[in-house]
Amino acid sequence: MKGVKIGLEIHEQLDTKSKLFCTCPTDYRDAEPNKSICPVCTGQPGSKPFGLNEKALNAAIKIAIALNCKIVADKPVQMRRKHYIYPDLPSGYQRTSESIGVDGNLDSVQIHEVHIEEDPGRFFLREGFVDLNRSGTPLIEITTDPVFDSPQHAREWLEKLASILDYLNVTKKEEGTMRIDANISLNNGNKVEIKNINSFRNVEKALTFEITRQGDLLRRGQTVERETRHFDEKMILTSPSRKKETEEDYRHMPDPDIPPLTIKKYLVDKIRKTLPELPQAKTKRFVKQYKLSGQNAENIVSDPYAADVFEAVVKTIDPVLASNWFVGQLKKTLNYNNMKLRDSKMTEKQLSSLLKLTEKGKITERAAELVLREMVLRPAEPEKVIENLGISDFGDLNTIIKSVVDKNEKAAADYKTGKKEAFEFLVGQVMKITKGSADPEKIRKLLKKRL
Ligand SMILES: [Zn+2]
Repeated sequence: MKGVKIGLEIHEQLDTKSKLFCTCPTDYRDAEPNKSICPVCTGQPGSKPFGLNEKALNAAIKIAIALNCKIVADKPVQMRRKHYIYPDLPSGYQRTSESIGVDGNLDSVQIHEVHIEEDPGRFFLREGFVDLNRSGTPLIEITTDPVFDSPQHAREWLEKLASILDYLNVTKKEEGTMRIDANISLNNGNKVEIKNINSFRNVEKALTFEITRQGDLLRRGQTVERETRHFDEKMILTSPSRKKETEEDYRHMPDPDIPPLTIKKYLVDKIRKTLPELPQAKTKRFVKQYKLSGQNAENIVSDPYAADVFEAVVKTIDPVLASNWFVGQLKKTLNYNNMKLRDSKMTEKQLSSLLKLTEKGKITERAAELVLREMVLRPAEPEKVIENLGISDFGDLNTIIKSVVDKNEKAAADYKTGKKEAFEFLVGQVMKITKGSADPEKIRKLLKKRL
């Protein structure tokens, strides 16, 4: 889109056992409100923070390396205080580090910088209630340059980023821990920031709304105000939240309680060696090694768990056939049930066995799809599922067709004298026995051959 400039700020919780500056557990999801807290993470006067959580720092370095950033090594990185007043922040400031990585890029999108900070608590406006269990949980913040030219581009890129984070395995896996701020300007006008969007789809919706809103203002000769807006998910619109909050308003200052830390170059090298094969490289390998289409490879690779299962399955199954199942029927079934492959208890072996049956033509594709739907929810050996579904022998269409023809001699004879209805009757009989799971075209073909 012409004149559209979008930048993103992504916040995701790092998967550490304890918070950033204290030993309170970060796994507070089942805890009662305000139980997973201490004087440090509730910002009580006189409380002294512990040293920075090393695991959080290492995770941040790993992410920055994977995003092709230059790591700020061998010089001091300072924790800073960012001041603002809100009920979820009892200390009145949020601790945020200086950049850990800078000048990265992912898929031709420039990454401005990567740093860590602490999550505030949660304020429930309607109830007037504050829960500080989340307060002090380590976050990674990734900031891009304003290089996206459409809401769709932003969403697609976020999906790629999420896939990389998934591979790195250092961020929380729960839904809804990622929060995104998106800034947008039209024709180099004022920048509007939309805060705290909780899904990629909503990023796209919020930005689409903003383009219309700002475009309307400009057409009427009005100016777009520089402001922070909030996205309303139900109304699908943005509304102003805080006016003209500038960087100066935050009164950034070094945190006197925390000595600057220096990331040693050898630590960066050590972490670099622990990086897994990342999606781009894996996609290329899948195309080369398994002769998959680029699209199928990218689709499978986007989920590290699915990619692992795929590699296990293709030890015994033709990779192209398997890939078509992974991006076709399997994906459809999982989406329908709102699941990811890792949510299903189905084993690689069970899936391989099912694909083997189709590969050998023992069951039809349609029957296999029915079996798969069942297996995803209630995993078992496919033969068992076939039996449980009550479709005995439905793999061997020829046997069924033979018995139908034998039992219906008159219809068979009628067909031979040119009665089309007789043929349809026989097809119907076969369909009945296979409970609709067999492909009618295939039945017709085999039946004609038999007659
Ligand atoms: Zn604490």
